Amino acid sequence: MKSKRNRFWSQDNRFRLILTLGLAVLLPAAALIYVNFRHLESIKRDKKVEALIHRDFQYVLAVSEKKLNQKAYTMAEEVRDLFPSPDSDSEADKQKKLDLVLSKNPWLAHVFLFDREKGMVFRSQPHLLNDTYCRKEHDIMAESYNGWFGMEGKMLVESLHKRTRPISWYTAPTRRAEGETYITTAFFVLPQVSRDRVVMGGASFDPNYLKQTFFPEMLDELITKKLTEDKDAAANGGIFDSGPAPLAMMVYPAEHDGDHEEKPIATSAGWGKGKPEVSRNLDDVFQRLALGIKFQGTSAEAIGRRWVMQSFLILGVLSLFMIGGLLLTYRSVSKEMALAHLKSDFVSNVSHELRTPLALIRLYAETLELGRITTQEKKEEYYRIIRKESERLTSLINNILDFSRIEAGRKEYDFRETNIAELVRNTLDAYRYQIEQQGFALEESIDSSIPAVRVDREAIARALVNLVNNALKYSANEKFLGVKLYKANDLLKLEVVDRGIGITRREQSKIFEKFYRTGDPLVHDTKGSGLGLSLVRHITQAHGGEVQVESTPGKGSKFTLSLPLAPAT
Ligand code: ADP
Repeated sequence: MKSKRNRFWSQDNRFRLILTLGLAVLLPAAALIYVNFRHLESIKRDKKVEALIHRDFQYVLAVSEKKLNQKAYTMAEEVRDLFPSPDSDSEADKQKKLDLVLSKNPWLAHVFLFDREKGMVFRSQPHLLNDTYCRKEHDIMAESYNGWFGMEGKMLVESLHKRTRPISWYTAPTRRAEGETYITTAFFVLPQVSRDRVVMGGASFDPNYLKQTFFPEMLDELITKKLTEDKDAAANGGIFDSGPAPLAMMVYPAEHDGDHEEKPIATSAGWGKGKPEVSRNLDDVFQRLALGIKFQGTSAEAIGRRWVMQSFLILGVLSLFMIGGLLLTYRSVSKEMALAHLKSDFVSNVSHELRTPLALIRLYAETLELGRITTQEKKEEYYRIIRKESERLTSLINNILDFSRIEAGRKEYDFRETNIAELVRNTLDAYRYQIEQQGFALEESIDSSIPAVRVDREAIARALVNLVNNALKYSANEKFLGVKLYKANDLLKLEVVDRGIGITRREQSKIFEKFYRTGDPLVHDTKGSGLGLSLVRHITQAHGGEVQVESTPGKGSKFTLSLPLAPAT
């Protein structure tokens, strides 16, 4: 009845444990994993990493354009400030001053000053005029600008004055010996000239300067700046912590033939080949040109794919850890619970075991005391029973004491040179009567020639008594007890054999654990604390030896202690 209740209790607890682990840990963990998994999948499906990179690229391009423009504006303003006044000088002076501007700024191709009243002064870098293409460019520009300003000059000046930085830009295709290229020209009004006069200055950036110096330098600078910014962001936990691949940018004509790959005007270092990942048509200063950006040697798609894969991998590993942790927790809690269960069994077993001999002792002592027993024979039998029961009590209490010492780590052994054959024989002698009384056939085989060994006599005797007691307790039909002491190589073997109920293979490894008792019904009906074998094991190990069991359920068991003949000191 009691054991049934116990089992219910333990099942109830196990159920509660599973419920707690399930509800409090497994469910949230599974939900977390699932949500993360779905999230990652949506990132993968919608190519969110790529989109993020592209957005970042758009932003970089916008900032880059601003920087390019700013630089061009500043350069143009510096040139404008060197311009001669349209009034104070003669035409020749103006030419001279414009030539000076050109020589001070070798990156300029042409400069000009237009005054609707006095006409156009158009100067070019002298060395350019030796080149047929440049010469032609000079002629065309001088003429077309003169015509254009003559017609629309007033409107242009008015619109220039409306701007915060009164400079306007025109980028046009042109030809040089090297091929097609673009020339960028700035038009500006002069600050010291009255607003209602149609006077304009202009300066053209040399196409070769733009191609070879201005763009490459600016692009490299922009990329370096972007990289340091990214590093700062990564240090603050940005999404591309692993560090994005280095970037590359290029400037190319916006109106390129769609089927052909963009022909770069200029590229940053490391552009290599290929299309830009994101591009932006430039406005304002470099109209007709476009700015493109990409990663060196990789693409946003590849980076996105890698990121998603890494994330899946991390999620997978974390999930495994989580499952492993859960299993471990479950196992260790189950173990603790089983132990608690065993302990509660132990307490009831021990109390029971203490009570029976005490009751017997009291009963027989009282009977003797009353003086009703007259025959000497009967009296002796009663004395013997009292002695036997008190011996049982002593041995049980010794077991418990030993056990608690072992648990507290305070058990000490007293090793002495011992004639082990004699020790075994003496111990058995004390039990011989009991063994035979219980109807057991005792078979002894003790090798007396075994040399003296250093053992703790009391402990070895206790181990043997525990094994013998078990053999007596757990034999049902065939009552046989064999005790054998012999030498095998440099080992001393002590065997205790019975033909009792035996132990299943599964339980053979557990019986040496404290409190453990097998599930056999006979074991349940037999008194025991589940401490005996754990003591036996501890004692043998303390002697540098080990204990083994061979057993077949229904056939019997053999416990063997193997001790070294010359124990390690
Ligand atoms: P106890 O005998 O007090 O229960 P032990 O630690 O001595 O504790 O033994 C643990 C368990 O191992 C026993 O409860 C019993 O189930 C099993 N056992 C021990 N010795 C034998 C044996 N000789 N034959 C069958 N089962 C045994």
